[in-house]
Amino acid sequence: MRCPQCSERETRVVDSRDLDDSATIRRRRECSSCSFRFTTYERVEAARLVVVKRDGTRQEFDRDKLAAGLRKALTRRPVTDNVAEQAADAIEAELRAAGAGEIPSSRIGTLAMEKLRAIDQIAYIRFASVYQSFEDLEDLKREVDTLYETKGAPGGAPGASEAPA
Ligand SMILES: [Zn+2]
Repeated sequence: MRCPQCSERETRVVDSRDLDDSATIRRRRECSSCSFRFTTYERVEAARLVVVKRDGTRQEFDRDKLAAGLRKALTRRPVTDNVAEQAADAIEAELRAAGAGEIPSSRIGTLAMEKLRAIDQIAYIRFASVYQSFEDLEDLKREVDTLYETKGAPGGAPGASEAPA
């Protein structure tokens, strides 16, 4: 950030505070060369995330809807209350980090399944059975078999597959 007075590049932040609900950061800077003080504002770029559904329709990414879907899958599972919220936040962060303006809805479904699979295997199966709409019991069995192969016994509780001490 160049000094508006003398164009020096070196400036020092002398004060920094959040404005309007932390969406903006206001910084007071001081030029290292001429000591001129000026203010800069830093704002989060809230780029729109557009979801392209399977039928080609587009809609804005809805983090709350995603969280609701995750919560539903995790109903009555032995996990902490905010785990669905955290997973939704993590998925949103991942989508934003990818930088693409348009995201196929299948990408979100895949990320959601990955998260649930790591959190709780029953929730994962619930979500996957709706999302992937398993054709029949064979499909479902295949998915469960895959879980057994990769993770040990399903159930999701930490330590459930460990041998007793
Ligand atoms: Zn200056």
